[in-house]
Amino acid sequence: MAKDLYFTKDHELVRKAVADFIKQEINPNIDQWEEEGKTPLHDVFKKMGELGFLGIRYDTQYGGEGLDYWYELVFLEEIAKIRATPAIYDFGSEYLKKTYLTPALKGEMVSAIAVTEPDAGSDVAALKTFAQKQGDHYILNGSKTYITNGTQADFLTLLARTSDEPGYHSFSLFVVPTDLDGFSVSKKLDKMGMRSSDTAELFFDNMKIPAQNLIGTEGEGFIQQMMQFQHERFSALPLAYGTSEMILKETVDYLRSRKVFGKPLIKQQVIRHNLAQWKAEILALKQLTYHIVRLKTAGMDASKEVSMGKLLAAQVVQKVADGCLQYFGGSGFMNEMPISRFFRDSKLISVGGGADEVMKDIIAKLEGY
Ligand SMILES: Cc1cc2nc3c(=O)[nH]c(=O)nc-3n(C[C@H](O)[C@H](O)[C@H](O)COP(=O)(O)OP(=O)(O)OC[C@H]3O[C@@H](n4cnc5c(N)ncnc54)[C@H](O)[C@@H]3O)c2cc1C
Repeated sequence: MAKDLYFTKDHELVRKAVADFIKQEINPNIDQWEEEGKTPLHDVFKKMGELGFLGIRYDTQYGGEGLDYWYELVFLEEIAKIRATPAIYDFGSEYLKKTYLTPALKGEMVSAIAVTEPDAGSDVAALKTFAQKQGDHYILNGSKTYITNGTQADFLTLLARTSDEPGYHSFSLFVVPTDLDGFSVSKKLDKMGMRSSDTAELFFDNMKIPAQNLIGTEGEGFIQQMMQFQHERFSALPLAYGTSEMILKETVDYLRSRKVFGKPLIKQQVIRHNLAQWKAEILALKQLTYHIVRLKTAGMDASKEVSMGKLLAAQVVQKVADGCLQYFGGSGFMNEMPISRFFRDSKLISVGGGADEVMKDIIAKLEGY
């Protein structure tokens, strides 16, 4: 009988390689990175690139591994990944692929997605950063905020207005190298969670962006970015159920050993019922993710399912993190306990990459409500 319905021996080899990497290179450093408010991405990505983790589903001609979505899922189940390259891969010119995508997949360049602005988050079309065409350049002015990897990125995939006309065809997506004049990190932001990931406010003052750094066609950036968001949102699903499974396991171990009123806490029926409920919800989320991978592998559109999955992922991981922290009692409130970090970090999925309400709007629209 097959040991696993979804994953082959080869998938499991990749899973082990990723798990070993996390055990050796990430976990021993995580407390220090949390303290410092930053992960040394150039160092970490370089090592991941050498192991082939960063371009699993990308074509080998750009330094990828040319594997399918199931391999990428294996990777995502083990670790969160870099997120700013899909638009270059899907829409970028050969020049952009060779100059930015390939080094990013090798881990030689760090990338960031730069969309959100102080007055444009959920309503992306309200953004004001403007790229004005001038000969063979665009002159970029404006600012972005809450940008993950913002203090370390070598390039941004940035969405800017290229026209004042109303509607969705007034935006374009650019690769913006951060070593050009006019770029500055105006502020490194202090966050309640995800502290080992740096987040920044960025400022663009008359930056001269070569026209060849335009991704795809001028005026199509909004649609391209919406497609890039699909990749980012999808990666939230394995992250959510992977984290939830890990927290649940650690909590069960604790509940077996912690005696209250003369018996281990796990013997309390109400607690066992909640653990069972969460286990069921985690499996449902995982199966929705596998369904999405089947849709993607078949070349079908999974926008609605990804939006549904992102919404449920946020609910499941927050419910599990909150419930598990409760069962750790006072110890769960201590910063030294991993559960307190998971509790703080879990909130981000409801906001980052599109808030829960935005996911509901998309689902309702695609359902024709
Ligand atoms: C840690 C972190 C990392 C991030 N990384 C990045 C990044 O790398 N790149 C990037 O571009 N952005 C990034 N973001 C920004 C993120 O995508 C935005 O914060 C998010 O889209 C929400 O936008 P906003 O903060 O402006 O909230 P707003 O748009 O002001 O919305 C506030 C709240 O209003 C509610 N709401 C919004 N729209 C509706 C609606 N239609 N119906 C009902 N309620 C609604 C929601 O509850 C929402 O949370 C990051 C954010 C955080 C916190």
